Amino acid sequence: MRKVYLDNNSTTAIDPRVAEVIKPYLSHVFGNPSNMHSFGRECAKGLVNAREQVAQFLNTEPQEIYFTGSGTESDNWAVKGIAFARRESGNHIICSPIEHNAVIGSCRYLETLGYRVSYLPVDEYGIVSPEDVQQAITKETVLVTVMLANNEIGTVEPVKEIAAICREAGVTCHTDAVAAAGKIEVDVRELGVDLLTISGHKLHAPKGVGVLYVREGIKIAPLVHGGHHERGRRAGTENVSGIAGLGRACELLSKEWQESALRMGRLRDRLEQGILKRVPEVRLNGHPERRVPNVTHLSVGYIEGEALLLDLDLEGIAVASGSACSSGESELSPTLKAISVPPLFRNSPVRFSLGKETTEQDIDYTLEVFVKVVERLRDISPLWKKRPVG
Ligand SMILES: *Cc1c(COP(=O)(O)O)cnc(C)c1O
Repeated sequence: MRKVYLDNNSTTAIDPRVAEVIKPYLSHVFGNPSNMHSFGRECAKGLVNAREQVAQFLNTEPQEIYFTGSGTESDNWAVKGIAFARRESGNHIICSPIEHNAVIGSCRYLETLGYRVSYLPVDEYGIVSPEDVQQAITKETVLVTVMLANNEIGTVEPVKEIAAICREAGVTCHTDAVAAAGKIEVDVRELGVDLLTISGHKLHAPKGVGVLYVREGIKIAPLVHGGHHERGRRAGTENVSGIAGLGRACELLSKEWQESALRMGRLRDRLEQGILKRVPEVRLNGHPERRVPNVTHLSVGYIEGEALLLDLDLEGIAVASGSACSSGESELSPTLKAISVPPLFRNSPVRFSLGKETTEQDIDYTLEVFVKVVERLRDISPLWKKRPVG
């Protein structure tokens, strides 16, 4: 059976060229990069190299790149680390309601410690308004965190405008760029943010490695205490193999992301237009233009999302029924709640997220199967038969 993987926002396949770079660290290159002997130095070289590759990809300097254990850790560190470091300046944080759980969870935790968090509204496409950010800022505000691209619906946020407002107000600005990296330009100088998160396994490197960009001069409290790793800001012997892989993945993306984004965009549009043309009562969630090129998020009226996902899986096609983090919970995700999806379209969200290896054949096969599966599910749906027609 043909297998088609369209769940790249959950995780991506490791690029073979990335795997190649990792291999030596899983055998003979095993030293501890903190050691001064030749074994240690060889590993330390891998870290230096990766830091440069990541810095180039984000258009910044290696000393502003910090390696962590995941995108989740980077988000936690950005939110709590700034809140703790700036406690004397204030206790107010601003974020969007459609942030990843790593950001929302950190904010909720800070609320239990006496911080105040403003969750901004978003429009029907999931876009945060910079004016709302401006208005929410008080003398107590220390941090604004708004993601660059939403991982569920793909909407791209006006982070550059938000960062400019923060700079003016003396407020630190973080953005979660995990779902944006490799799909749109991620240039920290251009964006003007103080902190930015990316994650290895969302861009064809291994799981368990993340990056937090911290602009020079920004004070951030460490969350992991111990040795002097990552210039004393994040203790723990480095995941050298994962970091080397992430570095290589970033080096490849620096050269290749634009072409692959164009390709993914063309294939995504082909799939989306095909579905919208052939299947009635389908709603596109998120902004039709201001979004990453690899995502289409649809709601299919009169069927259950779970049934759709399982039937597609039986035909070898992997998609997400919501976001990976909330699958299993049948409740509407906070993102879909925030954009006020109409009742008819709440039960059947389906996210297709393409990857750089997705082919035209994958898309054509998916389109055929999708149309067939939806027709079959609607044939046995009493709601579909009773729907108001005309
Ligand atoms: C996946 C994801 C994360 C978490 O990254 P992990 O490395 O899986 O912990 C954070 N933010 C967004 C937007 C994501 O899509």
